[in-house]
Amino acid sequence: MNPPWAVSGTTRVAAVNGHPIRHSVSPVIHNAAFRALDLDWVFTAFEVAPGRAAAAAEGARDLGLAGLSVTMPHKSDIVRALDRLTLTAQTLGAVNTVVREGGGQLLGDNTDGAGFLDALRTDEGFDPAGRRCLVVGAGGAARAVVVALADAGAAEVIVTNRTPARAEEAATLAPGVARAGTVEEADGADLIVNATPQGMAGDLSLPVEAAALGPGQLVVDLVYHPALTPLVEAARARGAAAANGLGMLIHQAAHAFRLWTGEDPPLEVMSAAALADLARRD
Ligand code: NAP
Repeated sequence: MNPPWAVSGTTRVAAVNGHPIRHSVSPVIHNAAFRALDLDWVFTAFEVAPGRAAAAAEGARDLGLAGLSVTMPHKSDIVRALDRLTLTAQTLGAVNTVVREGGGQLLGDNTDGAGFLDALRTDEGFDPAGRRCLVVGAGGAARAVVVALADAGAAEVIVTNRTPARAEEAATLAPGVARAGTVEEADGADLIVNATPQGMAGDLSLPVEAAALGPGQLVVDLVYHPALTPLVEAARARGAAAANGLGMLIHQAAHAFRLWTGEDPPLEVMSAAALADLARRD
């Protein structure tokens, strides 16, 4: 049993910056992890107006925040306020995790792709090496997934998007492996990833035709609320394996937790806390 948890003058503060942010599950996930390991840390959420990401990073620097998560719409804007970027963050031009280094320097990383791969391998037992993958979407999440799949040795990554020019652009992040394509190519893909908001809260549209899904495929919907998205439901009904985006959410948070605290993240505690929080919202 952990001792009572108290915030004091020594407590280290981490936070997620975004807009809107009040719905974020990140505080619940990280605070559960801090408590489980009895760390004197607390995690909260800051509503940062669009265009103010760099100013917020300067504030975080001056206040001595121990860690920052960054979400929409700030992942690209915050880059210019940081002292150093990891290669992944440089490639993507986007940061979802800021680490305070010695001397108060701020390092920007992007753990979305690593979190996605961990969810694939650990939770779904799927190794992308040599596999044919189709990614629907070309925004921040899709771009992280495209680069991660290529780095993991995927044979081919087909990118499709509502705005085709953005699919072309996302594909240039993984030359020789990724290319722009069409949703019809879902038929024949080993892995299909939805990286669009289709399927969120009451949206019953499918990013790919249900008829393209079947046994032998893994379908991953990056949407995680509702837990049973229309795509996950359609995939399972057609005999494909399917997962929502909760695994990626937990694993990207786990990477951030390790970078900030140096401790092994308590994955089960983090996952249970997120599930309980999301269930309360239903
Ligand atoms: P983003 O940068 O805004 O990109 C959104 C993408 O979705 C764009 O490609 C956009 O196409 C497409 N899109 C938007 N509305 C659409 C519609 N009605 N029909 C078809 N395509 C549509 O957003 P993001 O950060 O990449 O996030 C994308 C999704 O992934 C969101 O649902 C988000 O919640 C989820 N996500 C999950 C995790 C996780 O950990 N599970 C992490 C990050 C994101 P255009 O280019 O044509 O606008």
